[in-house]
Amino acid sequence: MEEKTICGRFAPTPSGRIHLGNIFCSLLAWLQAKSQGGKIVLRIEDLDSTRCPRANADALAADLEWLGLTWDTGAYCSSNSEDYFQSRRFPIYARYLQRLEEQELIYPCFCSRGELHAANAPHLSDGRVIYPGTCRHLTAAQRAAKSAQRSPAYRIKVTDSPISFQDGLYGQYTECLAQECGDFIVRRSDGVYAYQLAVVIDDALMQINQVVRGSDLLSSTPMQLYLYQLLQLPAPQFIHVPLLIAPDGRRLAKRDKDLDLDCLRRIYTSPEPIIGYLAYLAGQLSHPEPLKAEELLSCFDLSKVPTHNIVVPPTLPLLK
Ligand code: GLU
Repeated sequence: MEEKTICGRFAPTPSGRIHLGNIFCSLLAWLQAKSQGGKIVLRIEDLDSTRCPRANADALAADLEWLGLTWDTGAYCSSNSEDYFQSRRFPIYARYLQRLEEQELIYPCFCSRGELHAANAPHLSDGRVIYPGTCRHLTAAQRAAKSAQRSPAYRIKVTDSPISFQDGLYGQYTECLAQECGDFIVRRSDGVYAYQLAVVIDDALMQINQVVRGSDLLSSTPMQLYLYQLLQLPAPQFIHVPLLIAPDGRRLAKRDKDLDLDCLRRIYTSPEPIIGYLAYLAGQLSHPEPLKAEELLSCFDLSKVPTHNIVVPPTLPLLK
C-alpha cells in the first residue's frame, strides 16, 4: 500500500513576536513531519485581525526562516499566499457554518461575558466556563426581540456522547462536550469566526494530516473532532506537546519579553544555540549544544519528548 505523505503545519497566531514556547512547538512540528519525509504548511491564524496586524505576521515568517524552520507551502511562499491567512477566509467559513445551520445545530446566543461568568455557571479548573444552554431554547419571538438589542454570537449544540482520540504523545483522551464545555461558540458577536471552526475547516481543506501543537489545546481537540464529524471532513492525527512554563508555573506568553525572538536575536547571532537548547528540553539531547534544526532530523524521536510541562529559566544560558 502506498504510504501517505505526512503534511504538518505551523499555525501561529501573530498577536505579538514569537517566544520560546512557540518555537518549541514549531520545532517539534517541523521535526515530526520532516523526519518522516513530510511537508509543512504555514497558515497565519489572524482571525482577529485587529489583534494580529500584518507586520506581526511578517516578523513571524522572518523569524521562522531565521530559525531554519522551513515550510513547503502556504503564506509567504506561493502566488496564493493570501489564501493562507485566516482573515482572508471568512467566505469559506461562512459556507461551512451554513452547512451546520442546515442541520439545525446552530443557534444565536445573546449572553454577555459577565452573565456567563455569573455564579450559577459551573467553572472547570482550567477556567473554562460550561455554557449552561441559556439561549438554546429561545422562541423565534424572543430571538427577534433580543436581536434588536445586540448582535448575537452563534453556538453549536453539542451531544452527550463522549468523544475520544488517541494522542500521539499523551495517549487516549476522552471528553464529554455536554459535561465539560457545553454548546460552544462558532462565530463571535462581532462576526469573527471562532478558532475551533476555522482550524477544522482549514486543516481539512489544506490536507493537513498531522497536527503537532501545545498541550493547552488538548481540551480543544474533542470540540474539533465533533466538527470534523458533523462536516464530514477527515480529521488529522493529533500530537500534543508539553508547554514551556516560567519558574512560577505560568505558561510562557508573549509578554515574557526576555524570551521572545526580538530579545533572543539580540543575544544570539545565530539560531543554533536556541535550537540546541530546545532540543535538549525536548529530550533529544543529553545536554544543550548549538545545532541546526536539520541536524536533529536523523535522530528525532517523539517518544523522548516529556509529557510534563517544562520549566525554563527567565534568561537562557548563553551557549555560544
Ligand atoms: N493559532 C494557535 C496558536 O498560535 C494554534 C492553533 C493550533 O495549532 O491548532 O496558539
